[in-house]
Amino acid sequence: MADEMNPFQLAQAQFDQVAEQMGLDDAVRSILRWPLREFRFQLPVRMDDGSIKVFFGFRVQHNDARGPAKGGIRFAANETLDTVRALATWMTWKCAVADIPLGGAKGGVVVDPSSLSTSEKERLCREWMDAVWKNLGPRNDVPAPDVGTTAQMMGWMMDEYSKLHGEYVPGVITGKPLGGGGSEGRTAATGFGVVVTIREAMKHLGISSVGRTAAIQGFGNVAQHAALTFIEMLGGRVISISCWDRHEKVAYTYTKDDGIDPRFLQSITDQYGTVDKAQAQAAHYLIEDGNAWLSKDVDVLIPAAVEGAITEATVGRISPRVRILAEGANGPTTLEADAVLKGRSIFVIPDFLCNAGGVTCSYFEQVQNDMNYYWDESEVLTKLDQKMTSAFRAVLAMALEKGLYMRDAAYWVAIASVEKAMRLRGWV
Ligand code: NAD
Repeated sequence: MADEMNPFQLAQAQFDQVAEQMGLDDAVRSILRWPLREFRFQLPVRMDDGSIKVFFGFRVQHNDARGPAKGGIRFAANETLDTVRALATWMTWKCAVADIPLGGAKGGVVVDPSSLSTSEKERLCREWMDAVWKNLGPRNDVPAPDVGTTAQMMGWMMDEYSKLHGEYVPGVITGKPLGGGGSEGRTAATGFGVVVTIREAMKHLGISSVGRTAAIQGFGNVAQHAALTFIEMLGGRVISISCWDRHEKVAYTYTKDDGIDPRFLQSITDQYGTVDKAQAQAAHYLIEDGNAWLSKDVDVLIPAAVEGAITEATVGRISPRVRILAEGANGPTTLEADAVLKGRSIFVIPDFLCNAGGVTCSYFEQVQNDMNYYWDESEVLTKLDQKMTSAFRAVLAMALEKGLYMRDAAYWVAIASVEKAMRLRGWV
């Protein structure tokens, strides 16, 4: 049952499907089905109480034919090597589809970051860098933040790398804090990019964006900025947001039919994305179970939290009114759910196209680090809008030309680009 596939099996199955359609030769398939390099290491960290706790860390470099490998570091209690492999693979496709000269990588640590103090987090970040720094670098592999990691953590990691390397190397990691080598616009970039692709999809479908409604899973970095941009750029209304309650260990959906105010919701959300239920209730938010967002009568659904959120069992709950499914999260739709979506009239913006805004802005950050010259936010977001728009249009053109489903078209564009780079470099 593919609903039970782990994320890497899903990534491979998606690749296999398109490789078959494309008639990709065996050598190219063999290289691209698996990561080029994988690192797994222990991270002994001195805790505040004086004890030593050993964590497990990973770094996986899936492919670097198009340029240095690139991808975030996740701190998550349920992190596995297969999750990291899948995310590294998707990064290769994401950088290729966004047409930025980078490959794909991902890293992680098995840890619940909310269980650590600030100083324990700093020691864990520095330890992670100590373990793998020889395999990283602006010309090799450039990490970034992801679930459970922050700009401050990237700052510590950059500092540790610079100390080990013997000189200031801001381009070794992106998503750094502003003033510490970070780029304007990076925090908003992924959510902003999600909404640029929604805007382009609406143009293609011939629907006006004003007054359109959305329901979002998640209220972290991607979801918060997607919500704000959906309202501010498109003139739309976000009516539901689903997120994890770390105290009760369960997800809730917060709904307000006349429109959620994301800034209010931000003001009652802690740094781990948990909303203060009592304050939400007092502000007349309807509080339902965590899956309720999926069955809302809206124009756009934006899963922007976790992988495997839409399964064969839940895909049928999507309202017939939904026109666009914008995958802000990585791998939110299982293979079976995707097969169901293919048969419906929902326009799917696949994850590695939809959420490519973050890595595109990370690339801009690296470019600015290299130049030692920094752009203002409007210049960054204008460049980001252009990149996301042209990426969307390239995939749509492929979909229309070959009669493909959008996800398959995105894979086709990405795989062809990586294959070309491998051939040009003489790998196959
Ligand atoms: P985050 O840690 O900031 O937020 C995660 C959110 O998901 C939180 O609001 C949490 O409450 C919610 N959540 C967790 N489990 C849930 C559940 N079962 N039901 C409902 N909500 C749940 O993470 P993020 O950076 O916003 O990333 C979200 C997704 O987007 C991930 O799949 C990530 O890999 C992907 N992504 C992130 C970026 C980026 O720049 N941050 C870029 C590309 C892709």
